[in-house]
Amino acid sequence: MSTKNNAWEYADSIENASHINLRKQYDLYIDGKWVKPSSNKYFSSSNPHDEKHIADVSEANEEDVDLAVQAAEKAYELWSKISAAERGKYIFRIARLMQEQARELAVIESLDSGKPIREARDIDIPLACNHFFYYAGWADKLEYAFPNQHKKSLGVAGQIIPWNFPLLMAAWKIAPALATGNTVVLKPAETTSLTALKLAEIIEASGIPPGVVNIVTGFGDTGAAIVAHPKVSKIAFTGSTAVGKLIQKTIAGSNKRATLELGGKSANIIFGDAPIDQAVEGIINGIFFNQGHVCCAGSRLFVEESVAEKVIRKLKHRMQSLQVGNPLDKNTDVGAINSKEQLKIINRYIDIGIKEGSEFFQTDCAIPTEGYYCRPTLFINVAQSSILAQEEIFGPVLTIQTFRTVDEVIQKANNSPYGLAAGVWTDKGSKIFNLTSKLKAGVVWANTYNKFDPSSPFGGYKESGFGREGGLHGLGAYLK
Ligand code: ADP
Repeated sequence: MSTKNNAWEYADSIENASHINLRKQYDLYIDGKWVKPSSNKYFSSSNPHDEKHIADVSEANEEDVDLAVQAAEKAYELWSKISAAERGKYIFRIARLMQEQARELAVIESLDSGKPIREARDIDIPLACNHFFYYAGWADKLEYAFPNQHKKSLGVAGQIIPWNFPLLMAAWKIAPALATGNTVVLKPAETTSLTALKLAEIIEASGIPPGVVNIVTGFGDTGAAIVAHPKVSKIAFTGSTAVGKLIQKTIAGSNKRATLELGGKSANIIFGDAPIDQAVEGIINGIFFNQGHVCCAGSRLFVEESVAEKVIRKLKHRMQSLQVGNPLDKNTDVGAINSKEQLKIINRYIDIGIKEGSEFFQTDCAIPTEGYYCRPTLFINVAQSSILAQEEIFGPVLTIQTFRTVDEVIQKANNSPYGLAAGVWTDKGSKIFNLTSKLKAGVVWANTYNKFDPSSPFGGYKESGFGREGGLHGLGAYLK
């Protein structure tokens, strides 16, 4: 069944992109088998770098979702009863198989999503494997994780994930669900289904009982069918705040549990006593990592007035060295924007910023003439009331504001409908403790940014959603 197609040829023309093995067409992975979508409809997954078709992916409708949920429900009878150590072994096996195919997964992730191969190879894929390893270890230790609480699994988990970290989000969702004895129906985002489908092949190869994990592909209506299905006991969603609100409406009054990880507009705060060069690297990483397609991106920079001129000068200089281009090139720092639609959204915000009259800066690096690209962008002296400082852009666009006092920056940082993450850069431990207790954000990084680890919980406040993923908190979300 698995045949190589064009993606092989053009990926192979780039030195590190050999050995990818993709099917021309992917069916749905339901009950341990590859099943054609009942509508027989497929859609194209393409490369945002050159808009070339990579593979066809199934469009699942309500009927297909129902089949997947039924398979997961049947499998739950077995999976929730086999020994916890046995469950752990399967999860370990998935982690090992992912590791063995890490290189191929990294190339496919980069091709399909537009993220730089360096990030896929060094961050996304290893972290995704680590999530499986981490939760495999917990599977037979739940009694120690939650002593004397007699926790039980929930049943079928419906999991819907976004396009910015496709394999990593699948790992965040699937690994804790399996460790706790739940079964899964997962839907990847429509523009980035391929690594989830490769993961389905890995799951198949792991020998895990059929139906324990089902992967259905499709658009928003496929996701909506999962959310609405009466036999789904838990919804785990990562995506936009708008869809998160729709999901809450759908499940209101039902017995379904939910964790929602939604948008963000996170503050990255630089004090005058911070190690400035390190902070500049942190600003770059905070907003340009994965083209700014990061829900916890440090997209609002607050700089203490006394060092603002210096920080902005160094930041602009450092930005000029960022290479924007083909994601498969190992030297690329900023890859392709994931889709034409997302590029339009980002450009609309840039136009708004220019019209609003804040100081505008874009690097002057060359960018490819085809595909979806955006130069690293700054807006300086942005008003707190500006749309740019309030709304999530989800692209390589940073707003800069200055502050004079600690209270002022806390007030400004918290003046947002979101509350996902924040960064604090200072030499003073006391300032860090003061801010971490007052910033309304689920995650606060000190003198670093965008650091993730399977053992640390992640999640937001306010319109950034609720519930935590990762660590013990992430396990708890799949138990009652
Ligand atoms: P974005 O705007 O970043 O694409 P979305 O929230 O639209 O984020 O998408 C995140 C995930 O949610 C994707 O897998 C998408 O297909 C899915 N989705 C979109 N609309 C709905 C919906 N109404 N119900 C459930 N899932 C949805």
